Amino acid sequence: MSSDVYFTTVDCKKHKSPLLKIKKILNRCAPEQFFKKSEIVAVKTHFGEFGNTAFTRPIFLRPVLEKLNNLGVKPFLTDTNTLYVGMRTNSVDHLHNATLNGFNYSTLQVPVIIADGLRGDNSVDMDIDGELLKTVHIAADIASADGMMVVSHFKGHEVTGFGGAIKNISMGCSCRKGKLDMHSDSCPSVVPDLCTSCGRCLGFCASNAIEMTPKAFITDRCTGCAMCISVCPESAIHINWNASSASTQKKMAEYAAGVFKALDNKLVFLSIITSVSPACDCYGGNDRPVVADIGFAASTDPVALDKACHDLVIKANGGTDPFSAIYPKVDSSIQLSHAEKLGIGTTDYRLIEVD
Ligand code: SF4
Ligand code: SF4
Repeated sequence: MSSDVYFTTVDCKKHKSPLLKIKKILNRCAPEQFFKKSEIVAVKTHFGEFGNTAFTRPIFLRPVLEKLNNLGVKPFLTDTNTLYVGMRTNSVDHLHNATLNGFNYSTLQVPVIIADGLRGDNSVDMDIDGELLKTVHIAADIASADGMMVVSHFKGHEVTGFGGAIKNISMGCSCRKGKLDMHSDSCPSVVPDLCTSCGRCLGFCASNAIEMTPKAFITDRCTGCAMCISVCPESAIHINWNASSASTQKKMAEYAAGVFKALDNKLVFLSIITSVSPACDCYGGNDRPVVADIGFAASTDPVALDKACHDLVIKANGGTDPFSAIYPKVDSSIQLSHAEKLGIGTTDYRLIEVD
């Protein structure tokens, strides 16, 4: 059976606001069937790394929040801390960055909560029956929400070809350990030349896996929680970004399945297909978009939605995939086929244009 994807272009005849068009496609997804009065609903987006300008514009969240408020639910805006060291590594820096990027109470009248805790280690384990993973680690405040509205910026991605709804509910909804699970097949390691032997990382390692030799050294007791990466003041602990694209994409799909399970399938998705940058919004810059702005799409099926967004980008690029031209070794369809196999959606979609 196919899934419906509601699409509206950025074209605005008679000066009709794009916000009204977003409202229309959201209404077609019937969010009232998923979210009930007084429920606490996460609105998951990506707050953008400091310096990036391609991430979802906060104003696009207005019709989403308006819809949720009209339903009588209690929405909160959320994102999770990053694996890499930057402006979103812990909740203090992350909230500061979110405020600077326009995601704050004064612009959107909604609380902002970083879902995986102060240092990215507050998570809930979900058992799944994946090909690569049997347990996934979901950010605690997302797992305990009553449902989730997922607002994703559709763009290119250096590891997965493109990043959309599936990426937002997998990498974007996991704690730091989960992100390491997806990005790496091994534990982090210390770069001896950068380590000052300050010993700070030892105090944060719950597995007692770090020894001073005299520089810090990560032993095989490491469980890959990734906590030490974020606390080292010298950025001396490095992630081995060694997972293959195929493995990362499959694990993403498995994490996405875990999020569906945690939220009892109560998810609605909106994707923003503007400022389609070649790479992830985690970079401090975004480069020229690969195609002109396209529009907005919504669905209750993240697989159908990502497939439709990708096809719209290909069409806007004259029939060729701009992401495979940039990342020729990446087969971005793996995230879709694996998610389909796990039963969280279908690549068979019906695009319904709404004006
Ligand atoms: S926190 Fe960083 S600099 Fe300090 S001992 Fe650990 S690895 Fe070395
Ligand atoms: S990743 Fe976690 S378990 Fe491994 S050394 Fe770092 S803090 Fe310890």
